[in-house]
Amino acid sequence: MSATKVNSFIGGTFRESTAEDVFVDPVFDPATGETIALLPYSTKEEIDEAVRAARSAFPDWSNVPVPDRAQVMFRFKNLLEEHFEELSLLVVRENGKTLPEARGEVRRAIEVVDLACGAPTLLMGTNLDQIADGIDEELVRFPVGVCAGITPFNFPNMVPLWMIPVALVAGNTFVHKPSQRTPLSAVRIGELLAEAGLPDGVFNVVHGAKEAVDVLLAHPEVDAISVVGSVGVASYIYATAAANGKRVQALGGAKNHLIVMDDADLERSVTALISSAFGNAGQRCLAGSVAVGVGSVGEELVRELTDQASRLRLGPGAEPETDMGPVIRDERRKELIGYIEEGQEGEATLALDGRGLGPSQGFFLGPTIFDGVTPDMRLWKEELFGPVLSVLRATDIDEALGMLNASAYGNAASIFTSSGHNAREFKRRAEAGMLGVNVGVAAPMAFFPFTGWKSSFFGDLHATGLDGFRFYTKQKVVTSRWWLAPTLDHSQPEGRGH
Ligand code: NAD
Repeated sequence: MSATKVNSFIGGTFRESTAEDVFVDPVFDPATGETIALLPYSTKEEIDEAVRAARSAFPDWSNVPVPDRAQVMFRFKNLLEEHFEELSLLVVRENGKTLPEARGEVRRAIEVVDLACGAPTLLMGTNLDQIADGIDEELVRFPVGVCAGITPFNFPNMVPLWMIPVALVAGNTFVHKPSQRTPLSAVRIGELLAEAGLPDGVFNVVHGAKEAVDVLLAHPEVDAISVVGSVGVASYIYATAAANGKRVQALGGAKNHLIVMDDADLERSVTALISSAFGNAGQRCLAGSVAVGVGSVGEELVRELTDQASRLRLGPGAEPETDMGPVIRDERRKELIGYIEEGQEGEATLALDGRGLGPSQGFFLGPTIFDGVTPDMRLWKEELFGPVLSVLRATDIDEALGMLNASAYGNAASIFTSSGHNAREFKRRAEAGMLGVNVGVAAPMAFFPFTGWKSSFFGDLHATGLDGFRFYTKQKVVTSRWWLAPTLDHSQPEGRGH
């Protein structure tokens, strides 16, 4: 096999694992099933070395003036722009999504770097003059220390960059452990950061799966952990990192409901639903995976969904006519087929069957729609993370909101309506952190936080926006009083009176 080995990036050096008995995972192109690279997992010693490199780089990096750290981000941004197409194609290659989807991802990633460039303003503290007689108080932000980031396969470029630019510009050093299924973009990010002038050891990349994460979770020199992944992984990392005294933000899975009222513009709403449910082959934490038809809209909603979804063209992501790429791995496709088979055995109706569609050599599964799904089915309860949409019916907005709010997850939700009243009810009562009104993928831009609720998020401060800056800084409040210095009285002639 001629596939190249993926480097790690430790202390400023890109290198292959030197361990003899290292575990090597193939990295596939999901559109062809072909092995495109070999990923040696980092050993415990190598991960320890990366953390120690980050620790020794911390004092100098955290002392670099904030505007100079921001200049590194400006240079990094320019490099990302310069390599925009190459980075997008790399995402297509290792993840399988379409080129327009990959370009969208890289654009959203760059927007976080744009945010980080504003660090001299965003890292400012606050102060209050004269909080008591002659006393002032100020709040000052300092970096946390060594931060680790654990990221999923579905956005190999954007999700790492939710964390890295904000953490670095705030003066932290970083160890990134990307998904073992999509490690190539992570290494490329490391190369571009080095080219942007980031000093050695400030940013490091190690590889692996659970064992690598466990080393970071137990490491006494890691101060903060950010993770984005499935609910089991996010909750495990949240609990373990917290038990080990680390600051942690853990973004988990999702089951996003899209409520379609019978007063909605159906055709345009369904176009948004299709893109939400089947974009990136349903592998987005903001993907709509449940559509709730309210009132009289049910039959027509399913008909329109089926009609538009059946016209999606499956294929390799880089081909211009492709609307939908493969899922990430064959095992994932098989798991999804298991859900489809189970759904068929139950009461739900398979309105559109995606099995057997797409090029046979890749990990393809076509858009699949179940109608008549009920909240007792696994199709509704669990995050499937693939191109399978469940349709439920509700008589009114109260019932629809009841369904949405009964979900264990609370990442995103949307309503499609022409009624301001319905939209307002939804905004106030939906128990999810990212809401869309006539928008199918309610993704906050970088200057807002990514605000999942319930099992979609464990922690206090979310990724990006001001929350991101707060997560990656610790604050001091300084209370000062200055007495007037005692002065000698020079007005009297020397030796007077004595
Ligand atoms: P995953 O949970 O399998 O893996 C995420 C990361 O955790 C990877 O780096 C992986 O190596 C590591 N990991 C895997 N198993 C582990 C274990 N047992 N212990 C510790 N670490 C482990 O997720 P995935 O399949 O790569 O990505 C898809 C998931 O991520 C979906 O559930 C999706 O909803 C979620 N996601 C959430 C958001 C969000 O913002 N909430 C964004 C993107 C993806």
